[in-house]
Amino acid sequence: MPYVIITGASRGIGAATAKVFAQKGYDIVLNYCHSQQKAEDLAAFLRKEYHVQVLPMQADVSNPKEAETFIRSAMVVWGTPSVLVNNAGIAQQKLFTDITWEEYQTMMNTNAGGVFSCCKAVLPAMIHVKKGAIVNVSSMWGVSGASCEVHYSASKAAVIGLTKALAKEVGPSGITVNCVAPGVIDTDMNGILSQETLNGLAEETPLSRLGTPEDIARAIYFLASADAAFITGQVLTVDGGIL
Ligand code: NAD
Repeated sequence: MPYVIITGASRGIGAATAKVFAQKGYDIVLNYCHSQQKAEDLAAFLRKEYHVQVLPMQADVSNPKEAETFIRSAMVVWGTPSVLVNNAGIAQQKLFTDITWEEYQTMMNTNAGGVFSCCKAVLPAMIHVKKGAIVNVSSMWGVSGASCEVHYSASKAAVIGLTKALAKEVGPSGITVNCVAPGVIDTDMNGILSQETLNGLAEETPLSRLGTPEDIARAIYFLASADAAFITGQVLTVDGGIL
């Protein structure tokens, strides 16, 4: 049975991605940072609904040791994963002049460092079997830049650079590396925005609505699937047309 490792999967885009992969028959390693109960509940739901195996695993992916340990432990149990989805991420809105060095470091360590560490942990095994797919979750702000989110935009641009370069390096080993760049998606991450702001963002979107976690999950699945076997090093913007 193929299996997928998904980081930050207890809620939002990660949880929706776990559901899509489970629907397709994948077993799931469901990484979470703090929300053990949510992860356990989701795991129980996926087992019952889709009859797949689910392994919830705690790790803070901004810590390279924790990222490596959880992925190695998963591989001891289930072997080499077919797919790695680097979804875990944090956001913060601040004027550039108010962002501290520590906040910049935390943003980079989580959003870009987590991708780096998890890729490093799975790749020796994927290279050994000469197959695998990695899908990273960037952001449209990593493509275009967002005011008051300079550190977030920089971290997501780093994910795009990492994706393109790694795709070239591991392509000869039969591994694809792509990323999705979501627009404004209706998840807890945008909970800090007022309803008025969210309505404004929906109005600015050519498709006249915010994205759903499922919109992104289906794009992630596509990039990991056999239908995308000849696609690598790409950034798939899933933003209702904003960019
Ligand atoms: P979310 O806040 O609901 O989910 C983020 C998940 O990542 C949470 O489960 C959180 O616990 C986990 N996480 C955070 N730091 C972690 C760490 N150090 N280790 C392990 N897990 C960690 O938000 P979401 O919208 O579902 O975000 C998922 C991804 O999509 C993120 O990378 C985010 O930057 C990206 N994204 C979201 C939007 C949006 O509008 N919601 C837009 C573009 C990109």
